[in-house]
Amino acid sequence: MKRVLVTGAAGFLGSHLCDRFIKEGFYVIGMDNLITGNMENIEHLMPLENFEFYHQDVSKYVHIPGNLDYILHFASPASPIDYLKIPIQTLKVGSLGTHNLLGLARAKNARMLIASTSEVYGDPLVHPQTEEYYGNVNPIGPRGVYDEAKRFQEAMTMAYHTFHGLETRIVRIFNTYGPRMRLNDGRVLPAFIGQALRGEDLTVFGDGSQTRSFCYVDDQVEGIFRLLMSDYPYPVNIGNPDEITIAQFAEEIISLTGTSQKVIYKPLPKDDPMQRKPDITKAREILGWEPKVGRSEGLKITYDYFKSLSIEKLHKKEH
Ligand code: NAD
Ligand code: UDP
Repeated sequence: MKRVLVTGAAGFLGSHLCDRFIKEGFYVIGMDNLITGNMENIEHLMPLENFEFYHQDVSKYVHIPGNLDYILHFASPASPIDYLKIPIQTLKVGSLGTHNLLGLARAKNARMLIASTSEVYGDPLVHPQTEEYYGNVNPIGPRGVYDEAKRFQEAMTMAYHTFHGLETRIVRIFNTYGPRMRLNDGRVLPAFIGQALRGEDLTVFGDGSQTRSFCYVDDQVEGIFRLLMSDYPYPVNIGNPDEITIAQFAEEIISLTGTSQKVIYKPLPKDDPMQRKPDITKAREILGWEPKVGRSEGLKITYDYFKSLSIEKLHKKEH
């Protein structure tokens, strides 16, 4: 049985990855310090014989007994609200955490995949974003703690590949959504759906003309799985190129939820990227991958998930 370590296992993407590897017949070791994650996301896996969980901060020393075939490093605060609240931990998990896990991968002779992000392109001056674009990041701006940690993570990972011959993979993930996102993590989709469910107005930041391209979680997991199993060591964008303005997105959520609330406008956060859309030519050509789930289908599944949450969770404020 192949053994895989998933860091950030109790988070949104990490928990879906654990599910996928269990389904594929792997022995899965989840690791998380629960700083933004939730054990409820993996409680269904806890009784399984081929799953175990370590409550551990990967920015500190990481030790796993036994052999490992794969490591997927997904631990990191991921929403702007989270990484603004815990900036130093964000920098540490991208840098020290990545270094620890690369060392572990080397010791175990495991293949390591890191979760990078479209944020390495910053507020992009090239549209859509190809992997060749170097980005436009403000290192000392509020988002710098996340963006630069991820850029360092890529550099460190490539260095281990080049100098130590470690097998590495780099996925640049574009905005991904689905069940198990935290309702109050501040990201736009849970923010809008939460507001609609609570009967509040939907808060669009800026004039709503900024764009994003939303990928459903099952598509994202499929892309990551294919990249891990490929032999391609350079960054690959995984995301859905179907681009939409945030104002249009708010209208879609209003019609999906049937809320009678309206849109209100709030100031645009500093350094908020104005346009974002992945060029997925590489993913298509190298992995034979493209997204299958359209936004209307994915949003409906996600809305049903949020509707099923308790009233208590719906009204829990984190910021
Ligand atoms: P999430 O907040 O739901 O999950 C992150 C998990 O990492 C949480 O469970 C958290 O407790 C854990 N964690 C954080 N710091 C840790 C540490 N030092 N030690 C151990 N565990 C730690 O976020 P997510 O959306 O699932 O994102 C997962 C990964 O994917 C992140 O690395 C993120 O940067 C990347 N990513 C996600 C998206 C997206 O749209 N969801 C886009 C780009 C990149
Ligand atoms: N946004 C918004 N209202 C909200 C939350 C976010 O208009 O309540 C905007 C935000 O300014 C950004 C976009 O939605 O332009 C996506 O934000 P998110 O935090 O989901 O992710 P990002 O892609 O910026 O990391």
